[in-house]
Amino acid sequence: MPLRRHAIAKGGKVNPAFLDSLRSLLGDGLITSREELRTYECDGLTNLRVVPVAVALPSTAEQVQAIVRLCAREHVAFVARGSGTGLSGGALPVEGGIVISLARLNHILAVDIANARAVVEPGVINAAVTQLVAPFGYFYAPDPSSQSVCTIGGNVAENSGGAHCLKYGFTTTHVLGLEVVLPDGELVQIGGKTLDAPGYDLSGVFVGAEGTLGIATKIILRVVKRPEVIQTLLAAFDSTNAAGAAVSDIIASGILPAAIEMMDRLAIQAAEAAVHAGYPECGGLLLVELDGPAAEVEALMARVRLKCLAHGASPPIHVAQTEQERAVIWKGRKAAFAAMGRISPNYIVQDGVIPRTALPQVMEEIERLSAQAGLRVANVFHAGDGNLHPLVLYDRRIAGQEEAAEQLAADILKICVQAGGSITGEHGVGADKKMFMSEMFAEPDLETMQLVRCAFDPEHLSNPGKIFPRTPLCAERPGPYVPHPLELSGEAQLF
Ligand SMILES: Cc1cc2nc3c(=O)[nH]c(=O)nc-3n(C[C@H](O)[C@H](O)[C@H](O)COP(=O)(O)OP(=O)(O)OC[C@H]3O[C@@H](n4cnc5c(N)ncnc54)[C@H](O)[C@@H]3O)c2cc1C
Repeated sequence: MPLRRHAIAKGGKVNPAFLDSLRSLLGDGLITSREELRTYECDGLTNLRVVPVAVALPSTAEQVQAIVRLCAREHVAFVARGSGTGLSGGALPVEGGIVISLARLNHILAVDIANARAVVEPGVINAAVTQLVAPFGYFYAPDPSSQSVCTIGGNVAENSGGAHCLKYGFTTTHVLGLEVVLPDGELVQIGGKTLDAPGYDLSGVFVGAEGTLGIATKIILRVVKRPEVIQTLLAAFDSTNAAGAAVSDIIASGILPAAIEMMDRLAIQAAEAAVHAGYPECGGLLLVELDGPAAEVEALMARVRLKCLAHGASPPIHVAQTEQERAVIWKGRKAAFAAMGRISPNYIVQDGVIPRTALPQVMEEIERLSAQAGLRVANVFHAGDGNLHPLVLYDRRIAGQEEAAEQLAADILKICVQAGGSITGEHGVGADKKMFMSEMFAEPDLETMQLVRCAFDPEHLSNPGKIFPRTPLCAERPGPYVPHPLELSGEAQLF
């Protein structure tokens, strides 16, 4: 007798009547052909792949609800998907389960400038929100480098960040409320149109839950008034340590830039090869953006410039003079991941966080590990909030290099945790990092998190197998893991 949670067939088969029901609900919005399904077999983390049984493309929240109800009835796991740009395997399909793509729920439903709000469907592309509110002098602040393609639904699930989250906060700061289809198919509203709705902060729980608590079908976002002036400075240092010291000094002095980004020599070379942003050759490049009233920005920029010089930046320090120049500077930074393809056939994007002051020590360790593994590591940082993106370069065609790269990327994460940081700053845990959760959390902590999961999704149907190193049965009591009798008899297995 299989456990209910194991009713998902491991061989990738579901009840044909289930697919028939989906087909009559969605018509051409259901994909079942093997070739087409392969488009959905992975997200941006391409080394993990699972072909789903089917991909559903609903056009309305009611259709999402009907699909989820069918899944609940048949005990079929489902994985929500936005644009599939996630880098932690969050949208990786589940064996024997279906993918629910939110691509067709891509409408901006309302813009309420007087109250600085927009209501959007989850498949809306991040950059489209700013494009829509820009004529009114507003913008949507969270700006992942993937913002021209990733969706707001994906951003909500990952609590995505971006260069400007240092000052403006991550996605969670900008989500006021949500409409959500819970894993049993119930459609609920959480949060609201105003800040700090009474009761538990359920929006705060849902944002960053990586699709494990249900599917967002509507999102109420805050938009922000565009500052009077924005200025962007480029400062070249001999090393990332010198640039890092300038970052700590700027922030310790009470200046809160809109963004502070850092790139090392290898990252600069790759970005230059890809977009010719005009970056100087140096060991550590700082990009500091200030925004606000003109007089304030001018005064603070003078102080930032002096601090950069005091920490050894090469004069003259360049401040972009036109909007076009700023855009080119940002293009280089935002293209940095993809630009790695210019200098290496393959690469792993790592995402870890450290206290800013630990930067010199962590960089030294990364260099040591990189030399030991014989693999190059390029570094791109959201330096203001200590979020590192080491890019481990390798060549899959050389036997053993991929494994060595994966090991190196894992070792880098461990250093981040040992330095008092975290295994992820913004890309999420997904399938990729779930084994590292135990590096940061003790078993009782993980069990407590699972209790939240079980309250929303006792059957573990919504994106199972992500975030947690193992999936307990919701009826389990907290405490050391005891195998279920059916596992011991070999009739069911945990996955
Ligand atoms: C070149 C590049 C640069 C990047 N830069 C950044 C960056 O600067 N900052 C950053 O934070 N990330 C960055 N990312 C990672 C990625 O773009 C973000 O995680 C993004 O939020 C994913 O959005 P998506 O629409 O592609 O979601 P997907 O990858 O499709 O899904 C991501 C997760 O969201 C869940 N999900 C999707 N839609 C919903 C929904 N409606 N309801 C519930 N769950 C849902 C999925 O199940 C999955 O777990 C980058 C990625 C790339 C490839």
